[in-house]
Amino acid sequence: MAPTSATINHSNWTDAQKKAVDTIVDRFTVDGETLKKITDQFVVEMNKGLDQEGATVAMIPSFVSGRCTGDEKGSFLALDLGGTNLRVCQVNLLGGGEHTIRQQKYVVSEELKLGPMRNLCDFIADCVDSFLTENGTSSQDALQLGYTFSFPIYQSSINRGVLKQWTKGFNCSGAVGKDVAVMLQDSFRRKNINVNIAAIVNDTVGTLMAYAYRHPNTTMGVIMGTGFNAAYYENMKDVKKWKGDKDQEMVINMECGAFDIERRVLPMTVYDNKLDRESINVYQQYHEKMVAGMYLGEITRNALLDLIDQQLLFGGRSSKELNKNWSFETAYMSTIEVDETPDLSEAAHILESVLNIPSTTLADRQIVKTICHAVGLRAARIAACHIAGVLRKTGKVGEEAIIAIDGSLYEFYPFFEHNMRQSMNEILGEADSAKVKFDLARDGSGLGAAIIAMMAAKK
Ligand code: ADP
Ligand code: MG
Repeated sequence: MAPTSATINHSNWTDAQKKAVDTIVDRFTVDGETLKKITDQFVVEMNKGLDQEGATVAMIPSFVSGRCTGDEKGSFLALDLGGTNLRVCQVNLLGGGEHTIRQQKYVVSEELKLGPMRNLCDFIADCVDSFLTENGTSSQDALQLGYTFSFPIYQSSINRGVLKQWTKGFNCSGAVGKDVAVMLQDSFRRKNINVNIAAIVNDTVGTLMAYAYRHPNTTMGVIMGTGFNAAYYENMKDVKKWKGDKDQEMVINMECGAFDIERRVLPMTVYDNKLDRESINVYQQYHEKMVAGMYLGEITRNALLDLIDQQLLFGGRSSKELNKNWSFETAYMSTIEVDETPDLSEAAHILESVLNIPSTTLADRQIVKTICHAVGLRAARIAACHIAGVLRKTGKVGEEAIIAIDGSLYEFYPFFEHNMRQSMNEILGEADSAKVKFDLARDGSGLGAAIIAMMAAKK
């Protein structure tokens, strides 16, 4: 059973604390009617994106058509630039839905995230080079690589994609409007690395394909990590803006994190607005900013500062650390939410030892836990709307559906799946919701990118 703020004994809170916390929790509460409204609007925006270029929800054809059977074989490289790490993988597809994978993670520094694109590409090429050296992978023929590049790009073929905009804290110069596959291929060429970018892949598309390698009827790939996005199969005859072959199915990268920049339905609070204003992509990615791992801690921090400023938390005293933007990590929320010790000692550790709040009372820690819960619960509830929306749009409500989900937020945030399920029950009704299966597809995008590189190389 997921905890609710009702399970915390509030008798030690002052009336003013109760009132202020209730007000904040109310702001983050999304009722069933609102969930349905968001879902309905989502379907409207999906249709707009399929009809015309330049819509808010971009609905980008991925050039990945056809389904995998699980019998594909061969050795491929994959890159995954997800937002937090860079992963280089070597994937051996063995057939029968089986594979082996060797991988190495590299940290992408803030300097690289905000510097010239050429430096980022050179860094990625150097990582691939050192991976190949360490793993003794050499070959006369060019190695085929699937490049998971999880930012909105307009694709013109399976291995060509022009960057539309940066998200998730990246802002490299000289990249928007350029083909990011060509730029990375140039770095490989300059450094004499014998690798060919066979496919450029969004992580949602990779996750969908990776899961489909074992479960061919997977319906959607969803990412809930640093960012938030999803992909699904669409009949291209229903995509008005598509000028190519209509007689096929293709995976659509929805770029649904951009949903509702018009602010029609998402219940944004003052804390969300403050985050948006201080983000590097103002007035963009509202849906993502309410759901994804990069942002939940900051929303929580904003709400805690509000209580501190009302002198209702930590005796009105913040710390240098807590005053700093982005200092309250989403992972702290997970730790605090599962803290069931009588004196909330895990929460005390984060607040006092990590964030240097001079001292906290039990009431303080209970309040922090309550706020974390409200922000995390809202994220999970809103995240279910786009899945329900896709099922509705594709006429699959009431059919068996497998939703493959990757990302640390989904994997580690306590009760995230439970809360999404509850939300799905409210949107679709329990009987139809029960047909929808959420599965963790851990690090699927590396495998998925390799499979897509294989499909591209075969063509
Ligand atoms: P990426 O999106 O780069 O592929 P991940 O899927 O690992 O990477 O997601 C990273 C995000 O997940 C970060 O924004 C981080 O805040 C969040 N995160 C990491 N650990 C946890 C955790 N234990 N609980 C909740 N969120 C977490
Ligand atoms: Mg990832």
